[in-house]
Amino acid sequence: MRQPMVAGNWKMNATRWEAENLVRAIKEAEPDPSAVEILVCPPFTAIDAVARVLKGSPIRYGAQNLFWEKNGAYTGEISGEMLRDLGCRYVILGHSERRQIFGESDQDVARKYAAAKRSGLIPVLCVGETEEQRSQGITEQVVSAQLQAILQQTDAATFHGTVIAYEPVWAIGTGLTATPDQAQEVHAFLRAELHAFDSGVGASTRILYGGSVKAENAAEIFSRPDIDGGLIGGASLKAEEFLRICAAA
Ligand code: PEP
Repeated sequence: MRQPMVAGNWKMNATRWEAENLVRAIKEAEPDPSAVEILVCPPFTAIDAVARVLKGSPIRYGAQNLFWEKNGAYTGEISGEMLRDLGCRYVILGHSERRQIFGESDQDVARKYAAAKRSGLIPVLCVGETEEQRSQGITEQVVSAQLQAILQQTDAATFHGTVIAYEPVWAIGTGLTATPDQAQEVHAFLRAELHAFDSGVGASTRILYGGSVKAENAAEIFSRPDIDGGLIGGASLKAEEFLRICAAA
């Protein structure tokens, strides 16, 4: 009943020309939209180019971040309303690179979440622990605090449709992947938290796994009951590999 999803986070990669070529190759393979929802998140500068290629396609596109104000004197920032104007449907929020490199706190992510909802975007909310936090045995505390920062300011009707991405920080871009059992354990914990918030939200929310997913390991990870697909970084920049991951979902 939860449609699998595979989302590509292109990070700060791809000129407009490279983005067009990449997304055209994905589109031309005609992946079955009833089997998996596919999302690509190019950098801001390539969103419009990707949108033109995807016109009429069931493949979705979105952004990797936003700022919480609608407009104004916020040099260098982009609002949710601007992303909607480009036709974005989704926005990634709270990615660990935003949290770690740009110092985004749980409260910042919560403000961005509210802004995404205000502008009609669907958040893909990232949560995940560092290697140190895992070794301290506080993984559940960390992901719970990241999730609760959002749940405490919203209600079930507003939250509905939100996508969660569990991304252990130690597995992002490192080649280290959580084992399917390690990932399933945290996904089940997150689903229980969502269920305690609202049983319908618990049952319907898609929880994606992210962290060095590749064509070779995707099927095994996605086979676990609480893993509804993946958020893919490096491997989403190669059309053929990304399509193989989509086919595994
Ligand atoms: C990511 O950045 O969201 C990610 C999962 O990256 P990678 O797949 O490269 O580990």
